Amino acid sequence: MRPLYSPPRHGVTVPPHLIAVPPLEGPGPEDQGPPRDQVTFCSHCGARTGGSSVSRVCRRCEMGLLLHARPELAPGPGDAFVVCDADLRVCALSRGAEQLLGAFEPAVIHAPLGDLVAGVSRDIDGTSALPRLLRKAAAGQLGIERTIVSLAGLRDATWPARVGACGRPPAALLVIDAPVP
Ligand SMILES: [Zn+2]
Repeated sequence: MRPLYSPPRHGVTVPPHLIAVPPLEGPGPEDQGPPRDQVTFCSHCGARTGGSSVSRVCRRCEMGLLLHARPELAPGPGDAFVVCDADLRVCALSRGAEQLLGAFEPAVIHAPLGDLVAGVSRDIDGTSALPRLLRKAAAGQLGIERTIVSLAGLRDATWPARVGACGRPPAALLVIDAPVP
């Protein structure tokens, strides 16, 4: 698997909050836009962009990188979502998730996702379903699954969430939907 971080190239300085994602690169075979069944969204503000982009940095907020996911999973502007790798370490935290969790993205990059979000849904054997779903999604082996989570500091409430794959490189995307009343 391609490493999540490699040093900046071409003299481009990568802001600290983007070190978990690949550095900026010029257009190449992989930069011709999302796969046909996916849409492009910003890892920070959630804005969706159309078509290919020369830069992977969001032009709207300039704080996030452009990622791809299936349209039923991809967040929209302002949505709360977290991107993590197969080790369940945080790769990106959206602005909406920052507000919801009272966390600041640069402070939680590479932190265990479990510090922010806990799974409420259980598998048949009684273990939390969330780690299994996230690992499967990060490996690109999960469609889109619905689950229930609780959030750090808000453990009394439960939140429906969607889990699936996003890229590149392959990672798991957890979109936190509106809370259950
Ligand atoms: Zn953005």
